[in-house]
Amino acid sequence: MQGRSVVPHFILFAMTAAAAWALAFGTEVRYSGKAGVHEALPETVGDWRGESLFYCLNTKCNRVLVESERGPDGKCPDCGGDVSSGSPIEWALLPADTKILKRLYTRSTSGDQVVVSLVLGGESRTSIHRPQICLVGDGREITRTKTITVPESGGGAVKATMLELLWRGQLSDGRWASQPSFYAYWFVAPGRQTARHDVRMFWMAYDRIVLGVTHRWAYIGISGRRTEGSDAHEQLARSFIADLAPMMRNF
Ligand SMILES: [Zn+2]
Repeated sequence: MQGRSVVPHFILFAMTAAAAWALAFGTEVRYSGKAGVHEALPETVGDWRGESLFYCLNTKCNRVLVESERGPDGKCPDCGGDVSSGSPIEWALLPADTKILKRLYTRSTSGDQVVVSLVLGGESRTSIHRPQICLVGDGREITRTKTITVPESGGGAVKATMLELLWRGQLSDGRWASQPSFYAYWFVAPGRQTARHDVRMFWMAYDRIVLGVTHRWAYIGISGRRTEGSDAHEQLARSFIADLAPMMRNF
C-alpha cells in the first residue's frame, strides 16, 4: 500500500509528542467501558448457521469443540477439563477483563465453514495485539496481505485486512503436507472502524490524549480454508462480512 511505510513513523512521532504534552498538562483519562459492537456473535449470518466454539483448558488435551459436544456438566468430553471460549495461549497473552467469543459457522447450501472470533478489550490497552504476531510460527506463514473494501448489505462499507496463510508441516503419520487458509480482520470502537492496526493505535492514542477517554476496542476476525491459486475464499469472506459487519456494529 502506498504511503504505508511513512505512516507508522508519523504516528510514532505524533504519539510521542502527544504523550509528552499529556504528561506536562496532566490530562486525566476516563475509561468509558463502551464498546462499538454488540457483545455476542449472531446465531445466524445470512444462510450461515453458527455454533459456539470452545477450547479445553487442559494443555495436555487441547481439544477444540463446539457447544453440542460439551459434556452434560459443560466440561471437555475427552478429559473432563474446563473449557473456555479462549484458548490457553490467548489467555496467557490477554488480560482477564478481555472478552473472547468464537463461533463456527456452516453454510447450509454448500457446507462451507468459517470461524469468527470476537476479542473485546477491557480497560487495559494490551488486550489486542498486532494480529500478524499471533498468526505466524509453527510452520505457518503469511503469503499475501491486502485490504478489501466490502459494501455492506445495508449500505456503507467496511474495510478488512485479508491475509492469505500457508501452513507447511508434518502430519502425525510422518507425511509432509501444506494447508492454505485465510484470515480477515478489522477493528471497531465507538464511532471508529478500521482494517489497520496502526490506525487503531492512532485512534486509541488520540482518544486518550486529546479526548481524555478510553473505550473498549473490538477485534473481529474470520478464518477459513482456501485453495491455492483461487480467490473463491475472498468472495466467500466478502459475502459473509457484508452481512456480519452491520450486525456486529453498535453505534
Ligand atoms: Zn480436554
